Amino acid sequence: MLKITPYFGIIVLIVSIGGIFYPKLGFLLLLVFASLMIIAPFRGRWFCGNLCPRGSFVDFWLAPFSRKLKIPASFRSMWLRVPIFLLLMGFMVYRIINTAGIVDKVGMVFVTLCILTTSIAILFGVIIAPRAWCSFCPMGTLQRAMGGSRYQLKVDADKCIDCGKCQKVCPMQLPVNEIREKPDCIKCGRCIEACPKEALSF
Ligand code: SF4
Ligand code: SF4
Ligand code: SF4
Repeated sequence: MLKITPYFGIIVLIVSIGGIFYPKLGFLLLLVFASLMIIAPFRGRWFCGNLCPRGSFVDFWLAPFSRKLKIPASFRSMWLRVPIFLLLMGFMVYRIINTAGIVDKVGMVFVTLCILTTSIAILFGVIIAPRAWCSFCPMGTLQRAMGGSRYQLKVDADKCIDCGKCQKVCPMQLPVNEIREKPDCIKCGRCIEACPKEALSF
């Protein structure tokens, strides 16, 4: 993770609150979409663990209020993720079509989307775990589809002592030290920092 990552959460508040009064702030979401689309084919969900404002918001601003329970396996299921992707994208396109191209109205569509998804992220973040929303977020699913097999975490089985420290710090609650692909890894690097045996690397 980057040194600046914890501070990106402020952008969520700027768009969700400031956007009500100044809808053009909603266009910041286009910058988010563009960034993740450019990065995903090369680094999978790297954007989620390093640059995403909402990822930063749930990890560093919301986490103290979270119950930090196990994220249900169904949250990662494509049977849930694909319909949510289609529903939210359909909602966004339908609303944009109905703005007649008026800039403030288009901006407000993005602000509404940000408020809606942030509210869901806060709800699940508090009652389950900070990254519960990120398990089925449409933009996370899109990045997984575009580059889930790229920039994989490597485990050196000869060095690993199976202490479990990496799994404890993983915000996505992944089976970190199992040698298999982890397409939902957000490349935050916390497991690497936590490992006492330097058994993990990208
Ligand atoms: S899953 Fe969605 S909300 Fe979470 S960090 Fe990735 S893009 Fe952001
Ligand atoms: S496996 Fe490691 S790098 Fe990937 S999300 Fe978990 S802690 Fe972050
Ligand atoms: S923290 Fe390192 S040594 Fe411990 S289980 Fe994870 S990879 Fe293995």
